Order: sequence, then C-alpha cells, then structure tokens
Amino acid sequence: MTDIPTILRAILDTVGQSADRGQVADYIPELASVDPAHFGLSVVLADGSQHSVGDAAVPFSIQSVSKVFALALALGRLGDRLWTRVGREPSGLAFNSILQLEHEKGKPRNPFINAGAIVVTDAVLAGHAPREYLGELLRFIRAAAEDDDIHINEDVARSETETGHRNFALAHFMRGHGNLQNPPELTLGAYFHQCAVEMSCDQLARAGRFLMGAPDAPRLVSPDRVRRINALMMSCGHYDGSGEFAYRVGLPGKSGVGGGILVIAPGRASIAVWSPGLNLQGNSKLGTEAVEMLARRTGWSVFG
Ligand code: GLN
Repeated sequence: MTDIPTILRAILDTVGQSADRGQVADYIPELASVDPAHFGLSVVLADGSQHSVGDAAVPFSIQSVSKVFALALALGRLGDRLWTRVGREPSGLAFNSILQLEHEKGKPRNPFINAGAIVVTDAVLAGHAPREYLGELLRFIRAAAEDDDIHINEDVARSETETGHRNFALAHFMRGHGNLQNPPELTLGAYFHQCAVEMSCDQLARAGRFLMGAPDAPRLVSPDRVRRINALMMSCGHYDGSGEFAYRVGLPGKSGVGGGILVIAPGRASIAVWSPGLNLQGNSKLGTEAVEMLARRTGWSVFG
C-alpha cells in the first residue's frame, strides 16, 4: 500500500481533473449556482492524522449527509422504538420517491430516503421548537468534529422551503397516515435547516470519526449502534445507487445532493469527498469515483 498523501494526490490529479463531472442539483435554486469545478477530499486515519487535497477546506451544503447525524440523535433519544415508524430496507427508488409510501401505509422504507429522514427529524422534534432540535443537532455535529465553526446556511434553507413541494407532499401523506407527530411545516422547517448545514471535507471527515471507531474520537454513540448505522449506510446510503456503491467501493457511505459523501472504513478511516456534479441517482459522480480509487489503492473494504 502506497502512503495516503501519495494516493490522495493521484486521485486529485486524475479523478479530480475529469471533464465529465455530472450535473449540479438545481431543484434547490441556491445549490444550482455552485461551481462544478470544485473537488475536495479528506481522510482521517485511526491514528488521528488527517490528510487532505483540493478544496477540502471549502464549506459545502451537506444535505442528506445530515441524515446520519439525525439518525444517531434519534436512536439515542428513542432507541429501537424508532423502528416502529421507519424501516431498515433499501428502497431501490429515488431519494424523493413517494411510490412505496402508499403500499406501506405511510411507513418509509429506511431513514436515509427523504420520507424516512423526515420521520426521523419529526421523532426527535417531538413537540419541541425546531430551534431546540437544530441546536441539539449542531451541538452533536460540532462535538463529533470537535469544531464549533459549523453553521447552517439560512439562504439554502430558505431556498428549499420555497421549492420543497415534494417533501411537503411526503410529509402530508405521512401525517395522513398518522406517522408524523408535528405539523408538516414545523417538521420540514427543521428538516430543511438540517439539510442546510455547511461543512468542509476537513470538518466532515473529522465528524465521521465516531463511526469508524477511532480510539481518540468523541464517544457519541455505543459501538453496537455504530455498527448498525454503518449497516444502514451500506444498504441505503445511496438510494437506488446503494448496491452499485457497495459493489464499487465496498464501504458504508452517505451521500447528499450538495455533492458530498461521508465514507467509513471501520477501524481504519473516516473519509469525506466533495464534487458538486451528480450522477443519475443524485450521488456525487466524481466523489464516487474518487472513493472507489481510494478503496482500490488502500485495499480498504468491509468485504475482506
Ligand atoms: N434537502 C434535500 C431534499 O430533501 C436532500 C436530498 C439529498 O441530499 N439527497 O431534497
């Protein structure tokens, strides 16, 4: 195995320069103006050392990567009771699909598709003001990253509040089935702000350490729960691209439409990559290629 800085430099010089960068998400107007030329990659190793290349210090909208932190909070708050409201099966459908909800009486397939994540946020919110939920979420993320300089981008949150009609449809449908405790506007207000958290790859890779079992990482979640969150990231973290990601990369990962991906090599590394252009499943195109190359060069895989 070559050393990590050499591998990262090689990834930046090949994948990072690729001309075919995918499409930047434009259904949230505020994200449409992000420059697709950005590329950042950061790796924190088990010994605590961190190695980064490209735009690893530039903050981006973490979007659905936030669903991992929200799930960790929800499991801490509700434990296994959460699973009466949301399943643990891959959906095989787009992140914002409503199709399965009717068959499954308003119970979403998993916590990482939008419907499932809205239920998770709703469960933690449980009658509190969105401000309190967001304060708790930010405290969790800042503690995980050991970095108080992590914020919510209000413009991105507002932009999605104005255009998030599909998420409103999902929330109202679930409320109709009795699977949303709070008024949809309240839950979605919290959910849109959660998605609008901004972090750099440097910060996100550090925030992911609690999922890799690093000896010196903040102990935010029990080891048993860490394994389960990783299992869900592996089976559901990339929506209808989850099987493909598992096949190509072989590590649990969670993507967001901002073009970020958090990837965990258990016991070895926490990895964050950012390239805003997306593939057809709404996952970062070059981000996937970058972690595929990283996994191949390092031999990191949960499959032996
Ligand atoms: N905020 C986005 C949405 O709900 C998150 C989706 C994503 O990152 N895949 O549509």
